[in-house]
Amino acid sequence: MAAAILDGKLVAAEVREAVKAGVERLKEKGVVPGLAVVLVGHDPASQIYVRQKEKACAAVGIASFSYSLPADVSEEELLTLVRRLNFDPKVHGILVQLPLPEHLDPLRVITAIDPTKDVDGFHPLNIGYLSSGLEAPEPCTPKGIIHLLDRYGIEIAGKRAVVVGRSGIVGRPVAQLLLARDATVTVCHSKTVDIAAVTRMADILVVAVGRPRFITADMVKPEAVVVDVGINRLPEGLVGDVDYEGVHEVASYLTPVPGGVGPLTIAMLLVNTLELARGAQVKDAQKC
Ligand code: NDP
Repeated sequence: MAAAILDGKLVAAEVREAVKAGVERLKEKGVVPGLAVVLVGHDPASQIYVRQKEKACAAVGIASFSYSLPADVSEEELLTLVRRLNFDPKVHGILVQLPLPEHLDPLRVITAIDPTKDVDGFHPLNIGYLSSGLEAPEPCTPKGIIHLLDRYGIEIAGKRAVVVGRSGIVGRPVAQLLLARDATVTVCHSKTVDIAAVTRMADILVVAVGRPRFITADMVKPEAVVVDVGINRLPEGLVGDVDYEGVHEVASYLTPVPGGVGPLTIAMLLVNTLELARGAQVKDAQKC
């Protein structure tokens, strides 16, 4: 039987509605959640992502503050902006759009963000909290993946999950979140020997490699749940890291590209901004 679709667009719309209601409730208490988005340079994909994020904020009532810096900005100038945003009470979440131009060290920049405003959950302190099973902002794409699985009632505990890719923004944190939900997790990467033998054992297969149609039907266990994170721009359009046509015939559930994980990433950015604004409100109340 063909796979059922995990409809990220639909689920993201539900999340956005819930965020909108949460934002309205917070505004009644005098707090307007604010997200600062910092873009360095003119990478076309980054410009599109930043515009999508600003639009998504406006649609749910989150204030967005955009900063566009030239590609040759010095690290010190960028760090000065980040530090200023750390102290801006209107800003509850700070996002520096990655990738940064070569001369800028992303770790130094991310580490300069106040961990309580780290809306992407990339700060090493928050990564440490998360891997220790403590509360921290969860990176948006992994958080969206878990939400999508939950929304479709897909059991995670006790399942064998395989994550292909070990980047700091997708592979590693999604593995952490799956582990925290009691899956048995294996992470594959470019040095993994016989990847197909590993992926064929997965009840839940999450693929974040950045290679078009990397996962083919013969690499998927029948009835597996397959989450395709990949976004590859080819002349024929956007394609994922999973061979959709083939895997659709084998899997029980599958995310499309586009319309799968992507919309949830942005929806979770809104959720994280709202959660950080609520946290700031609690901290302010404690100061009184
Ligand atoms: P990275 O390039 O940072 O990481 C890719 C990972 O894939 C690395 O861990 C790498 O291994 C692994 N890899 C590369 N080639 C192979 C191979 N032949 N066999 C096994 N593993 C391999 O990518 P990201 O995690 O940032 O992104 C992955 C994809 O997801 C991209 O297409 C990106 O556009 C997309 N993406 C989508 C998002 C969304 O919202 N839908 C959000 C973020 C990303 P190694 O570590 O050994 O080099």
